[in-house]
Amino acid sequence: MTPAPDPRRYDLDALRESLRDARGGEVDDSIPELARADPDLCAIALALPDGSVLHSAEADVAFSIQSAVKPFLFALALLDTGGEALDRVGIEPTGESFDAITLESGTGRPPNPMVNAGALLTASLVDGGGPDERSTRIARGLAAFAGRELDVDEDVAHNEHLLGDRNHALAHLMRAEDTLTVSADDAVAVYARACATLVDARTLAVMGATLALGGVNPCTGARVLPERVARDVVSVMATCGVYDGSGRWMRAVGIPAKSSVSGALVLSAAGRLGAGVVSPPLDDQGTSVRGRLASEALSNDLGLHSFAV
Ligand code: GLN
Repeated sequence: MTPAPDPRRYDLDALRESLRDARGGEVDDSIPELARADPDLCAIALALPDGSVLHSAEADVAFSIQSAVKPFLFALALLDTGGEALDRVGIEPTGESFDAITLESGTGRPPNPMVNAGALLTASLVDGGGPDERSTRIARGLAAFAGRELDVDEDVAHNEHLLGDRNHALAHLMRAEDTLTVSADDAVAVYARACATLVDARTLAVMGATLALGGVNPCTGARVLPERVARDVVSVMATCGVYDGSGRWMRAVGIPAKSSVSGALVLSAAGRLGAGVVSPPLDDQGTSVRGRLASEALSNDLGLHSFAV
């Protein structure tokens, strides 16, 4: 076997330049703040086990994390419930879009933690006596993954809470099934605030690396999660992280990842590295068009596909 190429020698700016002309996809317009995103933004970052972070231009441009927060909410729920979260949410892929109004048949549980129903539920399982305390706990948890404090875009949090009709519907449906135990409005508020957390490509890379490296943040050296919890989270990213595009993603890219409506992708290549990629135009499955191309290139050029021998 030839040794895997060294990411330190990889020219991320050249990769970024090669993607800049890629067109196609639509910027999400579910809230005004997302609709205003720069369609030309494109940034890539890699976080390595030795704590170094490699990045292209624009890797410090901030955007809301959106659904790329879902693996971290799942992780915090597993941590705070001592694993009981695994009884409260399924882990099977749905083959449906991220905000489909469906629950697991027979149990009324959300199908998996990577779709909106599941993330509404996992956010409700994080420790805290009420929504403010839960949001504070989530902010603290996300900061440990990131290795720094993260701001929240208050306009994004407000508008997602106000305009997230499908999330309100999902929360009410889970209340009716007795699977959500906090109020529907509190669940949507806490989830919306988590989605409104501001990150950049560098930060996402570090967060992805913390999952990929068994729960230890390579930049701070802090153990954020037990190794087994990190493994569980990355497993579910692999099967469910790109929604109804997860099968095609796994075949083509082969790296567990989570997509989001802001055009962000967080990737966790177990034992190797974390990556953060952002570019707002999305394909039909809600995956960043340039993000997918960048991820395929990284996988091929750095030998990161989970099943490549
Ligand atoms: N906050 C968004 C929503 O709930 C996140 C969805 C996503 O990124 N796919 O609709």
